[in-house]
Amino acid sequence: MKPSKLLRDALKRIRSAAGTFEDNRRGPNLRYTLADAVLSAFACFFLQSPSFLAFQRRMEDDVGRSTCQTLFGMQGIPSDGQIRNLLDRLVPDSFQRLFLHLLDTLRSNGDFSPFVRLRDRILVALDGIEFHSSRTIHCKQCSSRRTGKDKRPSFFHTMVAAVVVAPGHNRVVPLMPEFVRTQDDPGDQHSVRRRKQDCEINAAKRWLTKWGARMARYRPVYLGDALYATHPFCQQVLHAGADFLFVVKPKSHQTLFKFLHERYIQSTGWIRVQNKKTRRYEEHCYRWMTDLPIRNTDDAVHGTWVEKTVRVRQKQGTYKQTFYTTLFTSLTVTRHNVQEVALCGRARWKIENECFNLLARHGQNFKHNFGHGKNGLANLLATLNLLAFALHTMLDQVKGLWRQCRASYQVRRAFFQEVRVLTTRYCFPDWRSLWESMLYRRSPPLALSAARA
Ligand SMILES: [Zn+2]
Repeated sequence: MKPSKLLRDALKRIRSAAGTFEDNRRGPNLRYTLADAVLSAFACFFLQSPSFLAFQRRMEDDVGRSTCQTLFGMQGIPSDGQIRNLLDRLVPDSFQRLFLHLLDTLRSNGDFSPFVRLRDRILVALDGIEFHSSRTIHCKQCSSRRTGKDKRPSFFHTMVAAVVVAPGHNRVVPLMPEFVRTQDDPGDQHSVRRRKQDCEINAAKRWLTKWGARMARYRPVYLGDALYATHPFCQQVLHAGADFLFVVKPKSHQTLFKFLHERYIQSTGWIRVQNKKTRRYEEHCYRWMTDLPIRNTDDAVHGTWVEKTVRVRQKQGTYKQTFYTTLFTSLTVTRHNVQEVALCGRARWKIENECFNLLARHGQNFKHNFGHGKNGLANLLATLNLLAFALHTMLDQVKGLWRQCRASYQVRRAFFQEVRVLTTRYCFPDWRSLWESMLYRRSPPLALSAARA
């Protein structure tokens, strides 16, 4: 399937998802639909342009139509205030299944092979990210904590992001997020509305409950830091038909490390490897021990402990340790796959480098446009931002004009800069003509050239 068709299909699905919400507005103020509001915000994220809507409104005034209509299928462009009010009523749940649809589409239409590791598995990194923090601005979904000398409350949002990653590959595919949320404590008789802080691991458990079974067909291996390496969470991963590969540390996993016995630890010995980035030679050593319990109970989940150490030889003949990690996994570890298992465990960093950085950089811009909201706006915008990012990755992995275009600009920032310039000046009848204009430096269709001076 061509990328323009995949993109149109994705936008249609976003429109349909927006249509599932009950629109209980009454009176004359029904000019813009919920779908228009959702697609307006999504368009800003997809085109990486916070000022996109302002230019499109002017274009609509000048020539009677805009890119919002032709490319995104919107009927009208609500003001930023209207978008904020409309989106604040929505919850992200209806958009979450679109992430799985994009992953399915990528597997059936695109180059999915870089994401397939350990023969036929995919790696899903789980991690928490805080994406809002303020002393004054807050909403019903905010978590709170008391910080500073004065112990004044500060408000924040956290979500558990799940991202398909692969070692040696700079693309990642964000999956549906799960938000850490505040909860009322029903057992608290004195203050019914008193809030209890949810936490990252509980959100991750909810994520697995919701999506674990549907992800099973991808045979995922879940990656995470030491917070995830607990008996209940490992057990939940196994029940979901998946495997885990989590970081473990002597301080937080004392039982596991207590059971380690030098006599039974297997090792590859020191292996000389050239570092691809620095071109320097390093020495890697992998050690592992099977059938270890994660806690000291009869029903404890058992797994394999894996250790990776990297050292470099100094001029004076001594060695300096440059990397050290220990992992706990339900995968079968052998002399033949221990290197790849350790490499996959390390790939969890990509969630931070490739995903969170982007979200932090671009997510902040859009708060200026739409604000934080009182109900669900902040979480909804974060979801739409991730969805746009997932759509970018899917299009990057599909053969066609988008991919050629992206390759011709090399730097992501330059590509989106050109998209911003062109969509500001011209109204393109379809995606194909936009990409052809970028790729072949072709003039946009004259009839639709905007008259904006
Ligand atoms: Zn909030």
